[in-house]
Amino acid sequence: MQDLTKWQGEREYIIANVIVVDPEKGSKTEGHVGIREGKIVFVEPGDPDLASIPLFDGRGLHLSPGFVDIHVHFREPGYEYKETIRTGSMAAAAGGFTSVACMPNTNPAIDEKNVVEFILRKAAEAGFAKVYPVAAATKGRKGEKLSEYHDLVEAGAVAVSDDGSPVPTAQMVRRVMEYSSNFGIPFMEHCEDMSATADGVAREGFFSTKLGLRGVPAYSEEICLARDLLVLRSVPSKYHASHLSSRGSVQLVREAKKRGLPVTAETAPHYIYFDDSELETYDSCLRINPPIGDNEDRDTLIEALKDGTIDCIASDHAPHAAHEKQVEFEYAPPGAIGLQTTFAVIMTNLVRPGHLGLTDALSLITHKPARVIGIPAGTLGTGEAADLTLFDPDEEWVVKESSIVSKSKNSPWLGKKLTGKVKHTVLDGRVVTASLETNRVGG
Ligand SMILES: [Zn+2]
Repeated sequence: MQDLTKWQGEREYIIANVIVVDPEKGSKTEGHVGIREGKIVFVEPGDPDLASIPLFDGRGLHLSPGFVDIHVHFREPGYEYKETIRTGSMAAAAGGFTSVACMPNTNPAIDEKNVVEFILRKAAEAGFAKVYPVAAATKGRKGEKLSEYHDLVEAGAVAVSDDGSPVPTAQMVRRVMEYSSNFGIPFMEHCEDMSATADGVAREGFFSTKLGLRGVPAYSEEICLARDLLVLRSVPSKYHASHLSSRGSVQLVREAKKRGLPVTAETAPHYIYFDDSELETYDSCLRINPPIGDNEDRDTLIEALKDGTIDCIASDHAPHAAHEKQVEFEYAPPGAIGLQTTFAVIMTNLVRPGHLGLTDALSLITHKPARVIGIPAGTLGTGEAADLTLFDPDEEWVVKESSIVSKSKNSPWLGKKLTGKVKHTVLDGRVVTASLETNRVGG
C-alpha cells in the first residue's frame, strides 16, 4: 500500500481506488475524491483521469467522512495527568475521529468564556482534531445558577451539559431548556437520579448480587430521563440524552419521539459490546457510569440503533490514570477510554452480525451526531472540509496497551479481538495519523 503521508501538505491531490461510503446519501461506490486546499472538490465514481494531480492509491481501503464523537472527556484544564487536549485529539485521530465534543467536567468547569477559548486554542495548536466544547449548563456544574450561555456560545460552545452529573431539579432543567433554546443549542443530559444511585457501582441485578457489588437500579437513569421528557413537553427546546444504558430508557425515548418531542439520544460502545456478566472479571475498566446493563438491555439498545430511536453512538471516552484504576472495582473512578475502539466495536457488534449495513452503521458516527450538535461535519459534500477517514472494514486486530495513543490506558477492550481498522485520518486535507508515531506520548 502506498504511503498517504507523503501528501501531507499537498495543496491538491486525489485519493483514488477507494470504496467511497457516504452515510448521508446511503451510498457505497468505488471511486475517487479530489482535495484542494483542505476542501473536498469532487467525489466521483470510477477512475480519475487527471494525471497532472498527485494521486494516492487507496486500493483495498474504504473512505468515509471523518468520524464525529459528541461525548469525550479530555480532562484539560485540571486533570492533565489523565489526558490533555493534545493527547485526546491524537487518540481521536488514531480512531478515525475528526470532530469531537468535549464535556465540561474539567477543573475549572467549562463555565466561562475564557475556558472555551483556552480549549479551542489548545486544540488548534495540537491540530489533530476539531474539538467542540460543551459548556457547563450551570455555574461550576453545581446545579444552582445558570452559566452565561451568551458568552459561552459566542466563544464557541456548541451545547450545554453538567455531564458527570445531572442537572439536579426539574426547575433547573426547565431554566436550562428555556435558556439554551434562545441560542438554538442542545441541552445534553447525563441522566441519573443521584438518590437512586446512592453508593452503587454496578447495575443492580443477578450479577451485582452474585459478585457482591453494590447495585444501581436501571431506574436511576430512567427517572431522570422521564423527568426531563415531561419538562420538555412544556418547554420546546433541543434535548439530548447522553450515554443511555437501559431498555427502559429506550422505551421512554421511543414514546417521546412518537409524541413529536425534540429529543435525540445516544448510547456508547461499551453498552452494545458488554453486558453485566462481564463483571465476573472484576475489571475496573468496566466500572462505568451509568453502569453496563444486562444482555436484554444490550439487545434492546441494538434494536434502538436499528430503528432510529437512538440517533448516534458516542465513545464517552473517559481517561483515568493507572493508579486510579488499579484498585478494587468499587474504588475505581467510573469511566473507560474508547476513541480508538469505537469504530471497531461498531463493525464487530453491529455490522458483522448483520444488524446494520455499513452505511447505516457509519451514520451513527458521522452526519447524525454532527446534526445533534449542529456542527459542519460528517459529510462528503463538495466545498466541505476534507475531513476523511480511510479504513479496512475487515481487518482483525487485538487491542494492545502499546497501541493506545491516549495518555490513560483504561480500556476494557485490552486483549480483545475486534474487526475493522482505521488506517488514515485526514483533517482539512492534512494526514493527521502520520505524526502519531513520532509524537507518541510516553507514560
Ligand atoms: Zn455522563
